[in-house]
Amino acid sequence: MITNTQGSAPGTGPQPADFTDVRATNLAVVLRFVRENAPCSRADIAASTGLNKATVSSLVADLIDRRLLRETGLTENRVGRPATMLVLDGSPYAAVGIEVNVDYLTAVAVDLKGEALLSWRRAFPGGSASSGQAVAGIAGVARRVVTRMTKEARQVLGLTVAVPGLVDLNGSVRLAPNMGWRDVDLAGDLAKALRDPGFPVLADNDANLGALAELRFGPHGGVRDLVYLTGEIGVGAGIVLDGRLRRGGAGFSGEIGHIEIVPGGPPCHCGRRGCLEVVAGLGALLDRTVPGGVSPAELEPEIDEVVQRAEAGDPVVLDLLDTLAGNLGRGVGIVANLLNPEVVVLGGYYVKLAPWILARAEREMLGRSLAPAGGGCRLVVSGLGYGAAALGAAARVLDSVDSGRLPAPA
Ligand SMILES: [Zn+2]
Repeated sequence: MITNTQGSAPGTGPQPADFTDVRATNLAVVLRFVRENAPCSRADIAASTGLNKATVSSLVADLIDRRLLRETGLTENRVGRPATMLVLDGSPYAAVGIEVNVDYLTAVAVDLKGEALLSWRRAFPGGSASSGQAVAGIAGVARRVVTRMTKEARQVLGLTVAVPGLVDLNGSVRLAPNMGWRDVDLAGDLAKALRDPGFPVLADNDANLGALAELRFGPHGGVRDLVYLTGEIGVGAGIVLDGRLRRGGAGFSGEIGHIEIVPGGPPCHCGRRGCLEVVAGLGALLDRTVPGGVSPAELEPEIDEVVQRAEAGDPVVLDLLDTLAGNLGRGVGIVANLLNPEVVVLGGYYVKLAPWILARAEREMLGRSLAPAGGGCRLVVSGLGYGAAALGAAARVLDSVDSGRLPAPA
């Protein structure tokens, strides 16, 4: 805690090296408090954060200057003077997330409060384009989103791109097998393609971002331990423990898709056999139901056809779905034993398949968990739709604001 009431203008004189860090940390504490408790008064903030009233007034003034908070004019009736209430100011900013996949691209923008401003879904030849073509395509969509936000008089706080693959902590894609990418400096190349746009450009793994989206926007109030599983051609896990995303040492955690589920099973592109991804990913289903094999550009209509055949009671499809669900449940059982999450969320195309796979997968998970009743683990489907990773990508931008990377005062 600090008591200095001056602004955080760097370079205005000798200051302790960590002065601006402390100030930024305290600004973030206040911002997060208002995010969680708005409308609230300065006195509420002081009482709950332990910061003294003068400091809170200074911090709030700074956040109002930066147009992150605004006064509502509402007052709270209680003993003593009525207080001016504070809320987040959603109007001047936008956080942008883009999810790329083998067959589609989703772009979303949200305001500071997390309210949706825009949601686009486009066909995208991610599985067949070169990484250079893909970067150009992503940059084109990003430019259109930024133009739209600028027209609405909003400043873009940041852009995160979600990728199905191994993304290191610097935003480089080390390997995205289903996209055919290896060692692509996605964040760097995209920033260049956008001509250093004046906001941070990040890249992250789609499962990590799906987990962030569930944490911020999903119906899991108070959940601290959550695993999100992507349901695409690939299967990845985003792991949240104790309220924090766990990326691992180099950023590569959560590669559940390459855990061996069926010894000696079908070959996986990783060179091994029987991986979760090949026995419980979409390929496992579509290879057997789509004559002539899977076309990455047409996954959605192919899944719709599977759903129609399942609804019509097609025994071949029902049998395949049951096998997929059993294999998926085995994988979730490993997650339950290893991490003891409160909830495992199935995302992507698993959502459409849920009526045929959820109960079976949960039975399998419960049967394999050593702890009684799966250690309390619930298996649910995402309510965030296809855009979950894109939403999480925007959430990552908001997370970085909440942790103290604030836009400059106007
Ligand atoms: Zn594999």
